[in-house]
Amino acid sequence: MIEPSQCVINTATLGFQAPLPEVIDAVARTGFGWITPWRREVEGHDVAALARRVRDAGLRVNGYCRSTYIPSDDPAQFRANVEANRTALRDAAALGADHFVMVVGSHRDLEMARAQVIEATGLLLAEAKTLGVKIALEPLHPVYAAERSCLTLMSEALRWCNAAEGQTAEPKLGVCIDAYHVWWDPELSSSIASIGAEHRIFAFHVCDWLVPTQDVLNDRGMMGDGVIDLKSLWAAVQKAGFHGSVETEIFSAQNWWKRPMDETLRVVAQRLKTSL
Ligand code: ZN
Repeated sequence: MIEPSQCVINTATLGFQAPLPEVIDAVARTGFGWITPWRREVEGHDVAALARRVRDAGLRVNGYCRSTYIPSDDPAQFRANVEANRTALRDAAALGADHFVMVVGSHRDLEMARAQVIEATGLLLAEAKTLGVKIALEPLHPVYAAERSCLTLMSEALRWCNAAEGQTAEPKLGVCIDAYHVWWDPELSSSIASIGAEHRIFAFHVCDWLVPTQDVLNDRGMMGDGVIDLKSLWAAVQKAGFHGSVETEIFSAQNWWKRPMDETLRVVAQRLKTSL
């Protein structure tokens, strides 16, 4: 049984239908303890004021979503992508976020893309350590490999962590495990255990995989409405040593994003109790 106060609402769940201060208030009044905002809600606003607003509402910031895609065959663009992420890392620190979520991007030349992401992650990690923010690499479902993420496996994410940071007792580079992206992985259990053994599970995102899925980007399901065995997954993540909060992240353009925020939040709170 999970209480909402121990859980995170990723603001994408609410479809960006209101400015962040209103979202903060809705999340707090439904009893959730944590929030993960997106850059589109933060950039161009007074970040310090938003951080105060979160604190005043009694919330804490878990993650900050998400990175500018890294890979490019134009060296100047690659550098610009790294710099954009440096700026976002500073905002993550100003918000008091635990970690910055990296969805890494892709390129037709996957080998180049992967090498660039490892290099960029190393550069950003140095900045993140100075700022006191962790970085969480999020592997995406392989259906996104052409455009959104050349990183698709948890085992691969762990290898990249080791390549960029090396073995360390208190890692600042880790993995965001998102149920939607990894539930199908035949090495699910062993990969979760390996990442946990190195203390690199930084976040656990949940939603559900609907059957049939109408749109792999924006037709994610509410927990309990699809085929993912969330109870087993959450048990495995906890057994691997993760003591953080469950984060709900539902992209649902045709369903949940069309509902009032309070309604969606009430259903999330209830499903977290019954589905995990
Ligand atoms: Zn996610």
